Amino acid sequence: MGALTTHWEIVSNPALCRAHPALAEAAATVGGRQTQNVGTVAGNVVNASPAADLLPVLLVSNTSVTLKSASTTREVAIEDFVVGRRSTQRRPEELVTRLSLQPVGPRTGETYLKIGRRGAMEVAIVGLAMRLAFDREGVVVDARVAACAVGPRPFRSREAEARLVGSKLDAATVREAGELMRGSAAPIDDSRATAAYRSRLLTPLLARAAGACLARAAAKN
Ligand SMILES: Cc1cc2nc3c(=O)[nH]c(=O)nc-3n(C[C@H](O)[C@H](O)[C@H](O)COP(=O)(O)OP(=O)(O)OC[C@H]3O[C@@H](n4cnc5c(N)ncnc54)[C@H](O)[C@@H]3O)c2cc1C
Repeated sequence: MGALTTHWEIVSNPALCRAHPALAEAAATVGGRQTQNVGTVAGNVVNASPAADLLPVLLVSNTSVTLKSASTTREVAIEDFVVGRRSTQRRPEELVTRLSLQPVGPRTGETYLKIGRRGAMEVAIVGLAMRLAFDREGVVVDARVAACAVGPRPFRSREAEARLVGSKLDAATVREAGELMRGSAAPIDDSRATAAYRSRLLTPLLARAAGACLARAAAKN
């Protein structure tokens, strides 16, 4: 994806919506139509808001960020690129020119779920992206889960991911994975929600996302 791709260009592109459904879901929640018309993917990434909707999806897509200056080009994994709240590895002389997402593989489903007080013009209280790959028996062989608005920067929970791998998403395992994700989070109180409320959302949100990934992976077969 070129850096200047707007959220609306993602949402309104049927091929992209099929190829990267979680990305399209996240882009569709950014602000309102006006924000989506002018806001770009690179702007969302470099802005590095703790609540940036695209970042959880880019994390579970193992995205690589291309940075160019007059004399250099380098690729940085998105997980390393955003280093903290509104802080990235970008050097002053560099522009982001491209984001490269790993394609969604066979028997794999992904989703982005956002909790807010209303349907548009809403910064996330919690946002959660998940990508799950299954084998032919329905066992999870690869799990990636990331959240925003529950820490200084969007993050992947390796503990939750490790708990899901090898399971068939039975309720107890999914709940334990949600609790592990809660353990990795560091939410704060603000005008939108309390830290306690944000934390409590993670377990049910992760369970909903797991169900959506399973359904989407099954629908591809
Ligand atoms: C009313 C409103 C609602 C919003 N709602 C949401 C929301 O729900 N979810 C959400 O995630 N965000 C939201 N945003 C934040 C913002 O609009 C989006 O993150 C958008 O994607 C930013 O893109 P932009 O192109 O406008 O970036 P800008 O705001 O123009 O830039 C952001 C930063 O990135 C830098 N930058 C931009 N492009 C590049 C590049 N190619 N290379 C290097 N640096 C670059 C700029 O210099 C600046 O520092 C909202 C903003 C507004 C005003």
